[in-house]
Amino acid sequence: MNNEDNHKNVRVRYAPSPTGFLHIGNAQSALFNYLFARHFNGTMVLRIEDTDSKRNVPHGEESQKDNLKWLGIDWDEGPDKPNPKYAPYRQSERTEIYSKYIEKLLKEGVAYKDYTTEDELEEMRNVQKAHGEAPHYDGRWYGRSVEDQEKAAASGLAPSVRLHLPPHYTYSWNDIAKGHVSFDSDNMGGDFIIQKSNGIPTYNFAVVVDDHLMDITHVLRGDDHIANTPKQIAIYEALGWTHPNFCHISLIYNPKTRKKLSKRDKDTLQFISEYKRQGYLSDAIFNFIAFLGWSPVGEDEIFSRDELIKRYDPNRMSKSPAYFNQDKLDWMNAEYIRKDTIDDLVDKITELINEGETEIAKKLQKLSLTNLREFIYQVTKIYQNESYKLTDIMKHVDFYANVCDQHMDLGKLDKLSKGDTLSVLNTLSDKIKKLKDSPDDEVDFKKMIDMVSAETGISGRKLYFPLNISFTGNQSAPQINEIMNLYSYSTILKLLNNSINYLQDSSVQYS
Ligand code: GLU
Repeated sequence: MNNEDNHKNVRVRYAPSPTGFLHIGNAQSALFNYLFARHFNGTMVLRIEDTDSKRNVPHGEESQKDNLKWLGIDWDEGPDKPNPKYAPYRQSERTEIYSKYIEKLLKEGVAYKDYTTEDELEEMRNVQKAHGEAPHYDGRWYGRSVEDQEKAAASGLAPSVRLHLPPHYTYSWNDIAKGHVSFDSDNMGGDFIIQKSNGIPTYNFAVVVDDHLMDITHVLRGDDHIANTPKQIAIYEALGWTHPNFCHISLIYNPKTRKKLSKRDKDTLQFISEYKRQGYLSDAIFNFIAFLGWSPVGEDEIFSRDELIKRYDPNRMSKSPAYFNQDKLDWMNAEYIRKDTIDDLVDKITELINEGETEIAKKLQKLSLTNLREFIYQVTKIYQNESYKLTDIMKHVDFYANVCDQHMDLGKLDKLSKGDTLSVLNTLSDKIKKLKDSPDDEVDFKKMIDMVSAETGISGRKLYFPLNISFTGNQSAPQINEIMNLYSYSTILKLLNNSINYLQDSSVQYS
């Protein structure tokens, strides 16, 4: 098969188990399936692997879908977009289909009923351990007589169904990411379960039946599934089917522990919803994840979705672990914030505030500004180029909206000549007082500051330093005239007075 044929009628699938919310590892699988489908003009299928009903969480499926949509990953077929040829797309609705194939394998004798009890299995493992053997099922029910089976069934035991593995047999495949991979049937833990004693098929069995019946051409999934693949190939062979192409994506690693990212890693956000909540942009997260386990030719790292789709090349999937680099993510997010329009950023910030899922969002919900949107717009304009996350901007919004309640370190004013500083602050204060009489006039604070400079003969650092400290609490601040625009005249006067009073009080004390 040449490469081009191999990519005709591509059908891939993302197959989450709704046992939790969309984790960054799930998102990575979903994203590469999506890039693969879109690059080759194929079909992306969403299949819900919900056979383990005990582990399913409420709203797990909804959360997966909502977060995929937020990431900009869409699908062509799924529970909500069924193609009658392949539906249903939830494994819990396909149990009859699986039973049919289990029956077929039982009839052919490739699979068999296993009545081993839990206690017997444990004893088997203990004996094997004592002999230094790797745990494996010893095949004790393979080829057993009908009488034995009937006797076990009559005693009330419910059998599981196992697939018989031929001995000394090699299962191998050419993995798109990992290259040639092979397993020996003697080292696969023995004949394995394809249907549990409660009648539910195992993951390995259901996935094979579904991938085959749904005409999946390429299976892209996390490399934690590599050990499942020989078992799945054994099922394909038993059913007389050809297996799809496999691509095992490098898992995401924590750079500090140099281990697989675990749900217990506190220093990395785990769920896509948390990235959203913390003010990451979906385009940035998409771009960032695309570089976890893959890279395009060249050094560039900022790519839009469309560019990534165009450049995606499965042959460049990486073999080695994908290290999660927080600094790189923050840098990327800052780039995306810088590229975005202010209006769009304000929309996103407003959404975060309305959702109220972080402390800062909750705080901002309590603001009672007449024109909150305009206020956020102005703050965003000032801080767009230096913010890593939307929450950074939100913290500034909170600071400026509540500036009179903030602790300002006015002690920094002592670094300057008191006379000059008082002169700047008083001159500005006088000008603002005059403005209060004509509050509707449009004011250009930049011009006003220039006038203060002209009247006092004070400029540069000696002029701006006191203003920065008075209005922001910091020595350096971006465009102080724009920050003044955020305040009412009475707030400006109050802040100037605070500084003036501080200096006058300290002069009483120390003169
Ligand atoms: N439901 C499996 C998982 O979430 C899917 C694995 C596969 O893609 O085959 O890991």
